[in-house]
Amino acid sequence: MFLPNWAVHLPTTHTDTLAPATREGHPAHCMQLTPIKSLNPYQSVWTIEGRVIQKGNLNNYNTEKRTGQVFSFDIIDKSNSDIVVTSFDLAATSYYNQIQLGKTYTIKGGTLRPARKAYTNSTTPWDIILDLNSSVKLSTNQSVNIPQYLFRFKTIAEINSTPAKTTIDLLAIALSITAPSTIRKSDSTFSHKRTVVLSDNSALCIEATLWGTFSDNEGKLLSELCAAQTSTRPVLAIKRAKTTTFKGTTLATGPNTQIFVDPDIPEAHALRAWFTSLTPTTTYPSVSIAKIEKTDIAGIKSSSHLGKPLTFSTVATIIHINMSSFSYPACTSIVNNQQCKKKLDETANSSWYCQKCKHAISHCDYKYALHFIIEDGTATTWVTAFDEVATSIMGISAQELQLLAPTPDKLWPVVKPILFHRYMFTISAKLEVYKSEEKAQCTVVAAVKDTASSMQESPLDAFLATP
Ligand SMILES: [Zn+2]
Repeated sequence: MFLPNWAVHLPTTHTDTLAPATREGHPAHCMQLTPIKSLNPYQSVWTIEGRVIQKGNLNNYNTEKRTGQVFSFDIIDKSNSDIVVTSFDLAATSYYNQIQLGKTYTIKGGTLRPARKAYTNSTTPWDIILDLNSSVKLSTNQSVNIPQYLFRFKTIAEINSTPAKTTIDLLAIALSITAPSTIRKSDSTFSHKRTVVLSDNSALCIEATLWGTFSDNEGKLLSELCAAQTSTRPVLAIKRAKTTTFKGTTLATGPNTQIFVDPDIPEAHALRAWFTSLTPTTTYPSVSIAKIEKTDIAGIKSSSHLGKPLTFSTVATIIHINMSSFSYPACTSIVNNQQCKKKLDETANSSWYCQKCKHAISHCDYKYALHFIIEDGTATTWVTAFDEVATSIMGISAQELQLLAPTPDKLWPVVKPILFHRYMFTISAKLEVYKSEEKAQCTVVAAVKDTASSMQESPLDAFLATP
């Protein structure tokens, strides 16, 4: 959905008028309000005030003992705590008709029960159950200091290491989306679905399945935005998606999911700035296809991956770059619409020979084979980054860097923003036995500068500034 109307039409000034008397005869603002985070089952009398940030549907339930209706909504208070409020049967119908998304209410007289964590990522340990004796009143003062949203965003790297059926919030760029397909569900009804590929600055992609109305509405909108012939892509905030871990890690929408396309929140603007800074050809490995393990540099050797490639993500600092050999001369011949790129042999008459194309050529194209050492707090390792990834790290092509290489003074400005900076690396490691010693061959598949650390002064700057 686009930002709901209530998010943009809230009054911007706080009117400090005296609230009218409540039924009990006390002005509403004199009521002792309990913060949501302080609620507990041993406190029988409480009143909370909060804004409705999610309104569910009036759903039917059907158990062995009875059938009826159930309705849930989420509210958030001014201390940023949220709680799920549920009602059943006649109370469900009554509150479903009363509750409006975006409005602030005071609630009292409910019962607390342990939160059903399968359906929420709220940090509050309780849900509120309301019955017809509970009191739900529209706040007379629609307080502007209560947040309009609550997201608990996780990165794709973090989602990849959470168990199946976890409820998560994700903010990501929608790279592409499939056409809708029709699926026959177990209850013989039909539903539409689309799959959207999402990426974020953890240098990974994930697939999310949008079901039913999400496919019909937000999916259709995303498809139009992705089809536009521009380099921009929509930002998607998805609240309460479910993880699945069949083969790779994927996400799916559920009944409590909310989707916001291009939300006007600071995190979305930062993500868009990150995406705009990428070279258009940048591609990242997908956690929905490849198995991206939860490990770190020390884990390469401690895990039993001998001979099998292991892909993992880690945040690490580049502590040394081998600048004496960072590139190789590549063949420029075009074979099947692609550059050959095979490493060339230098011949006696200062031209080049390609073993693959089996011919001599007069000029070459330098490509990266960048070797450097990274450290992630658990261990260090040598890694290799090839042309596309190395270009994204170095900021200039190997061909350009080759021209600077004879003058060390000109190399330093290129290396300085990289050395001792942190990156989110996705690494493909292969452990092999070489001369009876285990040795890891590590190739960087993706690298994204850690924006948190790049905001700060480089530790090298601090070192150089020390008298
Ligand atoms: Zn060639």
